[in-house]
Amino acid sequence: MIEQTSLRQICTKEDVRLLVDILNDLAAQTWHKISVGPSRGLAFGEESLTDHNLFELDRLGAPIEVYKFDKTEEPYNGADFEWWIGSDTTRWLGLRFQAKKLDDDGVYAQLGHWVRGRRQYDLLLEQAQRDNVWAFYCFYNGWSGSWPKGVTNAGCKNRRTPAPFGVGDGSCVHAYLEDFGCAIAPAATVARRHQGEPRNGRLALEEHLRYSRPWSHIFGDRKRHFQEPRQIVQELPAHLLGWSIRRAGAASNVDQLSGLPDGAGYHRELPPWLEARRRGATSQEGYRPAIAVVFDVG
Ligand SMILES: [Zn+2]
Repeated sequence: MIEQTSLRQICTKEDVRLLVDILNDLAAQTWHKISVGPSRGLAFGEESLTDHNLFELDRLGAPIEVYKFDKTEEPYNGADFEWWIGSDTTRWLGLRFQAKKLDDDGVYAQLGHWVRGRRQYDLLLEQAQRDNVWAFYCFYNGWSGSWPKGVTNAGCKNRRTPAPFGVGDGSCVHAYLEDFGCAIAPAATVARRHQGEPRNGRLALEEHLRYSRPWSHIFGDRKRHFQEPRQIVQELPAHLLGWSIRRAGAASNVDQLSGLPDGAGYHRELPPWLEARRRGATSQEGYRPAIAVVFDVG
């Protein structure tokens, strides 16, 4: 039997620290699958990476609940999974993610994916704004070698680049290279960059890496993390906002959706389709994302 880390609650700063470590660990496993898998004839698809990571989160115990839905709206809202962080007493924050795996040739080939005549990212942004959730891309990365030259590290105020785990004097203390195995970037930024299309819709990794941060950074980096869950719920919107706006670059096209949710992503209650599942509805009831993860920080 594999030894299993468990999380009895997400209530103290130690709990938050453990959650950050677990998310980094899952990112490192993802990194390894992508960088080593193909050479062993074991290439992983986006969906299996998502399933694996979210299954592992579910195994942690009570404060994290994962629900998979049979009938999804994915083609219409562009989302692969959602995170709901909060509690009934603190309010809930909704984050929506579209997953994209790095291809062997160092591009996210499916980024410009068309759905019924529209770009997937436009659907993602439009629906997220309407549903009052934050829209992100979750990039699954992995390569052999170091951080690409000339690419800034968005999560480092000291402007240092991340080194592989266990290596690197003078490199970034906020993230290791493998933490970027699951890296997120604001969907509005991804959309703007893609519309620039320097490589005919096949933007290279570097174009998006400079706006990406490890998914663990939602809760904190390796140096500093949220001290307690209430702080997460109170401060996460400002944290995400600064991140989304600063990294969006010049908003040259003002008509383009900002990706900022009306209501800062706050919800007094979980959405009805998710609440129904928590109360025992089957996987076929309700619609919405393929997978929803609840982080109960009450
Ligand atoms: Zn740093």
